[in-house]
Amino acid sequence: MSSKEEVGESRAHVVYNGSASRINEIGLQLYPVSEYDSGGGLPYAPVDWPNTGDKWEWRAGKRITSSGAFKDRYLYLPKHFKAPKGGKKNVFRSKISVKKYLQYEYPDMDINQFFASFSWMIPSKQSPSSKDIDFDSDMKERSTSSGTKLQYLLSDSPIRAITCKAGNKICSSLTVENPFPAMLCDICCSEPGFCRDCCCILCCKTISSDYDGYSYIRCEAIIEGYICGHVSHLDCALRAYMAGTVGGNINLDAQYLCRYCDSRLDLVPHALKLLNTCTSVASRADIEKILNVGICILRGSQKRSGKELLHRIESIKAKLMKGVCIQDTFKKESCVDSTGNFSALSSSCLC
Ligand SMILES: [Zn+2]
Ligand SMILES: [Zn+2]
Ligand SMILES: [Zn+2]
Ligand SMILES: [Zn+2]
Repeated sequence: MSSKEEVGESRAHVVYNGSASRINEIGLQLYPVSEYDSGGGLPYAPVDWPNTGDKWEWRAGKRITSSGAFKDRYLYLPKHFKAPKGGKKNVFRSKISVKKYLQYEYPDMDINQFFASFSWMIPSKQSPSSKDIDFDSDMKERSTSSGTKLQYLLSDSPIRAITCKAGNKICSSLTVENPFPAMLCDICCSEPGFCRDCCCILCCKTISSDYDGYSYIRCEAIIEGYICGHVSHLDCALRAYMAGTVGGNINLDAQYLCRYCDSRLDLVPHALKLLNTCTSVASRADIEKILNVGICILRGSQKRSGKELLHRIESIKAKLMKGVCIQDTFKKESCVDSTGNFSALSSSCLC
């Protein structure tokens, strides 16, 4: 993300109100800025932390609260810093993600003092009402002044709600209504052709809703009133060590780690859902595929719920491999068969 691109965009705005600066509680002079404006250091980003001379950067988003502050604002690490683990870019979208990063990198620091050293709130030059009225003209102005900017606007404009950017006719964004608005994302979601609702955040290919969507996982983390909503193929997440049971720094136990927001999701309920899905699948090969996903995400789990479910899925799979009738395979009571011999059952079954 180049924050330099945004500089100089402010002339595109004709509506200026409340442009007088004001002093906040800690003596910082806060001045209103335009959408997508950016800058370095105070008052909207920390300076001299952790080392003297370090300068964090900030950028305003687009949406504005009723009190005239930016709903979306971004904080960037000083330029020479490494991006947070997980290969993400060096940008934070919420106080929570900054906090998580700091707690991990600097466990002994005073986080309150860090947030008190600058203003997280960025006042907007535009009032919320004038913004709504000006939306169309603003959009035209921007699309002609800079082609690249249009993509930015499209990614979080209302247009997103009614079309799938990946051109997927069965995208869930076209049918499912979410009670929470989606979090603004200017990483993957600003890419043309990437749809948050149906493109895997790891491989960018579309997900499949076959068999109740057994093969993908959606992050439903709610952060500050917004849903993350990014999806990932379970296969991709397993390969990237972002799902299942993973040791070391990642430290997952039958969980999924969202690449976008770093939230952890328990995968035991997903595995249980897979098992239920299987009961209405007729193809043995497909059942096996679905069960294998369940086995992969539960394998190695130290949780009781994970271990128990893994045992159950493995025993069902074993029965299936031995040729037991599909209906009988899913009868829970048949699991207690301690002999491990299911041939009697299958020979009497005609399906
Ligand atoms: Zn889509
Ligand atoms: Zn995204
Ligand atoms: Zn994928
Ligand atoms: Zn997420």
